[in-house]
Amino acid sequence: MTTTATFPQRVRTQVPGPRSTEAHARRQRYVSSSVSSYMPIYIDRAEGSILTDLDGNEFIDFGCGIGVTSLGHGNAAAVDAMRAQLDRFSHTLFTVTPYELYTEVARLLTELTPGDFPKKAALSSTGAEAIENAVKVARSFTRRNGIAVVDHGYHGRTNLTLGMNYKAQPYSTGAGPRPGEIYRVPTSYPYRDGGQGGAAVARAAIKYLEKVSGADNLACFVVEPIQGEGGVVVPADGYLETIQAWCNENGILVIADEIQTGLGRTGKLFASEHFGFVPDIVVTAKAIGAGIPLSGIVGRAEIMDAMPAGALSGTYSGNPVACAAAVEVLGQLAAPGAMDRTAAIGERLRAGLEALKTKHAIIGDVRGFGSLFGVELIDSEGGPDAAAFQRVSRGAVERGLLVMAGGSDGHVLRLLPQVNITDELIDEALHILDEAFAAAR
Ligand SMILES: *Cc1c(COP(=O)(O)O)cnc(C)c1O
Repeated sequence: MTTTATFPQRVRTQVPGPRSTEAHARRQRYVSSSVSSYMPIYIDRAEGSILTDLDGNEFIDFGCGIGVTSLGHGNAAAVDAMRAQLDRFSHTLFTVTPYELYTEVARLLTELTPGDFPKKAALSSTGAEAIENAVKVARSFTRRNGIAVVDHGYHGRTNLTLGMNYKAQPYSTGAGPRPGEIYRVPTSYPYRDGGQGGAAVARAAIKYLEKVSGADNLACFVVEPIQGEGGVVVPADGYLETIQAWCNENGILVIADEIQTGLGRTGKLFASEHFGFVPDIVVTAKAIGAGIPLSGIVGRAEIMDAMPAGALSGTYSGNPVACAAAVEVLGQLAAPGAMDRTAAIGERLRAGLEALKTKHAIIGDVRGFGSLFGVELIDSEGGPDAAAFQRVSRGAVERGLLVMAGGSDGHVLRLLPQVNITDELIDEALHILDEAFAAAR
């Protein structure tokens, strides 16, 4: 990257600054230490892509709360919609006395998700809850129990999802036995699997599943089309297609966990579209409520009707304020040109990051689409380098850029900027990363 632009000085104190340090001491007295914070800078306000902390430091937000505030903090139209709904009512419980906003979100989701067949949706509050609903529906519809998942996957922190995650530490350590009938297979990880090709990895996974479970024991195959926590792992062509064909032949439902990759994050409304992948059920959450908890599952109508009335809901499922935000979010993402902008952001990021890769030997791989990128950091032997990630992320935050961690070894720099961030902020972030990589050598 060559740039002559000068950038604002965003950070004026040590990071964390004195007021954040004070807030952190208070928090440690009252908040369970099992709740962690990756970067203990206490936020005072946020607008667009900028977070401002208690000490007045600014940070370009390349995390968006893990892809939640995708259309920017304080998105004016979403905030107006939420405010208007708050003035009407904030809760009734859809299963007691319903409201039309829930139906409208369901309708929009059935139209926007991949697959040209009749669909229905059910809303919930968190991503993990929606994953649990998807699995319940799949088991109910197929009358089978087995769940197939993949290496490096992440699906949440409830009991069922702990069993579906790849990593035990820290999610399930000491939390008792994990649920059974979950079978984990390799995923296509082109940078680390020796370039076997997606179809070959899928065939090996299928052979293993046929042995350890049997296809006719499997209710569903749950997969993130591009892995988030796992380090923005983009499968080689052929992987998802081969898995899908085998699942279809064997009556196994394909469930796409698009909680992180969906809703425009990758420059398409759903990342499945990059691979021609057509899931039976799509799971969504994170960005849909513009920061208000909301999640949902959308799938083939006959599958979504499999469970008895009353099976799918909870007190807060499809909260009306969250639904008001979602209608606005889905409208903005589906507007003409919105995804073209995110795709262009992806090209700018890719070019900038590839240029940094030629300069900095600790960068092993750059991958992603749209506003979701992973930069895999390596040691001199090419192995995963988590310490390098710590140095780079520290260097970035001290210069005013907040980046996320990813990868099963904590060695992938994960970037999730606003899906309509400006070119100026992308260039400033790339400039900061250049300095942070240089300082991390
Ligand atoms: C965040 C996430 C989840 C869990 O969602 P919660 O709302 O935290 O329960 C599940 N799957 C993926 C891919 C995620 O990124």
